[in-house]
Amino acid sequence: MYYNNKTVIYRDGKFVKASESTTDLYSQTMHYGYGVFEGIRAYATDNGTRVFKSKAHYERLKKSSELVNIPFDFDVQELVDVTYELLERNNLTDAYVRPLVFCDPNMSLSRPNKVSIMLCAWEWGAYLGDKQLRLSVSSFCRPHPRSIKIEAKVCGHYVNSILATNEAKDKGFDEALLLDSDGYLAEGPGANLFFEKDGVLYTPQLGNILPGITRATVLELAEELGLKVKQGLYTLKDLEVADSAFYCGTAAEVIGIESVDAVTFPKAWQDTLGKQLQDAYSKLVRTSEPTLSPTH
Ligand code: PMP
Repeated sequence: MYYNNKTVIYRDGKFVKASESTTDLYSQTMHYGYGVFEGIRAYATDNGTRVFKSKAHYERLKKSSELVNIPFDFDVQELVDVTYELLERNNLTDAYVRPLVFCDPNMSLSRPNKVSIMLCAWEWGAYLGDKQLRLSVSSFCRPHPRSIKIEAKVCGHYVNSILATNEAKDKGFDEALLLDSDGYLAEGPGANLFFEKDGVLYTPQLGNILPGITRATVLELAEELGLKVKQGLYTLKDLEVADSAFYCGTAAEVIGIESVDAVTFPKAWQDTLGKQLQDAYSKLVRTSEPTLSPTH
């Protein structure tokens, strides 16, 4: 599904065949989840392929690395260029790109001596599908920001996301909703949350969530559309009386939420602010020239 015997990946300065690439079983990343990664999307536009906000994603990869003391000796602009070449070499236009920074063999808990980078890409539809989601509030909370670096996209953090996703699916729901350790609304296992009440949009403030690049884009688009947005600490009670809600993320894009456990949102998706933002996002990512931020 992710590669065949023609697929090429980028690894430490070279393009190599995915099927011939191997990794060391003694890697610190393999044993302790000590690595950082990104998820980026490329879109076909009238003017060729556009890797949406590629620079912002590689800047976040660098920041994630630095936050957890993994040396990052890669050049952001070079990684952007390599991404375009990777897509071209694999004949991909609409695609998902996965950069991973991983560590060398080291069974101790010390800083890594040497790190590697790999980039791969594959065709991937909207991660959470295109139907509105039925969410379930997770029994798992997001990791406490004093236990980990919450702003870093670290491999090991995703065990929390996997546990929450599996729990929701096992209960017959589409996806989980996680609270923070104080019980405030946080985010999905791989997406940020927005909800609408009386014509105003609300989203959890930064501090206990991954600062999503799609979240930032939605905030920019909302401003362009003249929508009022508030960021703060919100509870499940606030969500339960909301008119509508949506998740957003690179893989999921903007996707409506139908219900949270037994509560169904009253507004038809077509009439929501989320739908306006979904349309605006879909248009923006397929535009060859960025109309908003200068981040590629
Ligand atoms: N929260 C979490 C936990 C995520 O894994 C992701 C996906 N990276 C997001 C939010 C959304 O972030 P982005 O919009 O940058 O993809």
